[in-house]
Amino acid sequence: MNIHEYQARALLKAQGIPMLDGDVASTPTEAEAIARRLGGTVVIKAQVHTGGRGKAGGVRLARNPAEALDHAAEILGMRIHGLTVHKVLVVPAAEIASESYVGLIMDRESQRPLFMVSPAGGVDIEEVAARAPEKITRLAVDPTYGIFPHQALALGFALYRDFAQVKAAARIMEQLYAAFVQNGAALAEINPLVTTPDGRVLALDAKMVIDDNELFWRPDLGLLRDELSEDPSEAAARRANLSFIKLDGTVGCVVNGAGLAMATMDLVKYYGGEPANFLDIGGSSSPEKVINALRIITADPRVRAILFNIFGGITRTDDVANGIVAATRQFKVSVPLVIRLTGTNEAEALRILSAVGMTALSDMDEAVRRVVELAGAAA
Ligand code: GDP
Ligand code: MN
Repeated sequence: MNIHEYQARALLKAQGIPMLDGDVASTPTEAEAIARRLGGTVVIKAQVHTGGRGKAGGVRLARNPAEALDHAAEILGMRIHGLTVHKVLVVPAAEIASESYVGLIMDRESQRPLFMVSPAGGVDIEEVAARAPEKITRLAVDPTYGIFPHQALALGFALYRDFAQVKAAARIMEQLYAAFVQNGAALAEINPLVTTPDGRVLALDAKMVIDDNELFWRPDLGLLRDELSEDPSEAAARRANLSFIKLDGTVGCVVNGAGLAMATMDLVKYYGGEPANFLDIGGSSSPEKVINALRIITADPRVRAILFNIFGGITRTDDVANGIVAATRQFKVSVPLVIRLTGTNEAEALRILSAVGMTALSDMDEAVRRVVELAGAAA
C-alpha cells in the first residue's frame, strides 16, 4: 500500500527524524493560509503516489503567500504520471548544501531489510545505480538484532566526512529502521536527505510503502489508505478480494492463480494481443468473485474481448460457470467471452454453460488465440 509523503513524514517524525514542520492543503486558499502561518519561502509539493514530482512540475518554491496560492492552484488537479493531485504539502523551504539518498527496502535476496545510501541524492536512485553504481553503499540488517550502532555509523560515513553530520545521519538510519519495522514497511526512503549551509541534516522528502500483509493485523495503518489516489478499478477489486492490476491493453483476463495469470498474459502477448489487466481470482472460488471480476473488467471501455482461463483445482470450474451465467443476467456484457476451463467439476461447468448457449474450450493455446483474434476484429 502506497501512502502519501505527508503521511510518511508523520511516521518518520514520530521516530524523531529531523524535518521542517508543514501542513497539507486541499485548496489554494488553504495553502495560502499555511504559507502565511509558516512565513518566508515555502515549498508546495504535490501529494501523489509517484516519484519524480520535482521533474514533472509538482514541487515549487513560493516566496510569499500569494505565490503559494498561485502554485497550489496550478498543482492541485494536475496529473502526474496519470495520477490526479488532490492535496499539496506546504513546508518551509530549506537551504540545501548537499543532497543524499537513503533507502531501506525488504530485500528478497538477503531476506533482510537492506539499506541503500548514496551521497549522490536528489535524483532517481535508478539513474545512480545505472551510471555510478560505486556511489551506492548497501548494508543488510539482521532483524533479530536490528541495526547496530557501528552499522549506522558506517552508513553515516558513506554520506559525510564531518563527524557531527556522520553522527546525525547514523541516528537517522536508526530512526528510519525503527519506522520501517514498526509500521510493517516494504520500503522507506528519504530522497533527498540534505545538509544545510549551517551544517544541519534534514529529511526533505519521505516515501513509504506499507506491506499489504500487515494491514490485516494493523487496521490503524489501513486508515492511511487514500482511495481517491488509487485507480478506481483497483480499489473495487481490492474490496472484492481480487488481486487485480489495471493495464492498457484490450484483452480482459480472468484467471485463477498468479502464475497462470502471468502465463496467460505472456501468451496473449505472444499471439499479438495486449492484456487489459492482471487478475487472479484466487484459489477458493465463489460465483460472487466471478461476478465482481466481470463487473470491473467490463467497466473498462478499452476491453474488446474477455478470456476466462481457469485451471480447476481448489477452484471449482462449476462455481466459475455459475458466476459467468449470473453476471450475464445481472448486467450486459457486450464484448465476446472466450471461456477455457478444465479440472474440478468440469462436466458440471460445461452443462451449466451449454444450458444458456455458451461453450467452453479446454485448450489454453486455442483459447488465447481466439480471444486475441476477437479483440483485434472488434478494434
Ligand atoms: P520528488 O521529485 O517527487 O522526489 O520530490 P522531492 O521532495 O524529492 O523534491 C524534488 C526536489 O525539489 C529535491 O530533490 C530538491 O532539489 C527540491 N526541493 C524540495 N524541497 C526543497 C526545499 O525545501 N528547498 C529547496 N531549495 N529545494 C527543495
Ligand atoms: Mn524525492
